[in-house]
Amino acid sequence: MKNIMFIAPPAAGKGTQADLIVEKYNIPHISTGDILRDIAKEDSEIGNYVSEVLSNGGLVKDDITNQLVEQRLKKPDCKNGYIIDGFPRNIEQAKIYDSILNRLGYDVGYVFLININEKDLEKRITGRRICENCKAIYNINSENNVPKIDSTCDICGGRLYQRKDDNIEAFQTRYKLYLEKTEPIIEHYRKQGVLYEIDGNHTVEEVFKQIDSIISGDGRN
Ligand code: AMP
Repeated sequence: MKNIMFIAPPAAGKGTQADLIVEKYNIPHISTGDILRDIAKEDSEIGNYVSEVLSNGGLVKDDITNQLVEQRLKKPDCKNGYIIDGFPRNIEQAKIYDSILNRLGYDVGYVFLININEKDLEKRITGRRICENCKAIYNINSENNVPKIDSTCDICGGRLYQRKDDNIEAFQTRYKLYLEKTEPIIEHYRKQGVLYEIDGNHTVEEVFKQIDSIISGDGRN
């Protein structure tokens, strides 16, 4: 199985798509956002720093994220393929990621760019709810992704919460940062011939179909 990377604006559905890939292909999902949210809970200097950056919608310092990613990718469960989500987020991180891959002898694999319009993103941001137990993602603003029982996870019965940065103000900062910092990395991967563009303005199932047809259509999996 080749490695998989997602590039997408906030709330475009990359976490949801990653969950579906994990379910079908059983490879680890490495989300720098999830790792950082766990660190933000720690009562330490770094925990407090990360927590503040996350609430404002800014980016955590590159040296912290680069180190976290390399440590995680070194674990043996990544040897047969993994999904990386939320990293790299700027061109400096993309270059560091190239060198991490080089050191570990890994290929970048598929880079999926999820395109989606800004109005839809705002709607998704305010409706996103996450299970505090199993991290399953729901959206109360999108018909086919509403939990069956209010505030309760369909899968494990856990309580659903709203991320602190899922509000319009933090969204605007995150979206601006995406346009400024993340879009240049698209060219970096386009030049390497590994970029696949996905139309994200569809249902979860339809978006997954587009992604899966690329993954399963490759004889090298
Ligand atoms: P996400 O879950 O991918 O939307 O990430 C949530 C937040 O975590 C972002 O708004 C950033 O504050 C932080 N974050 C996640 N990945 C990175 C990264 N690669 N570099 C810097 N900050 C990050």
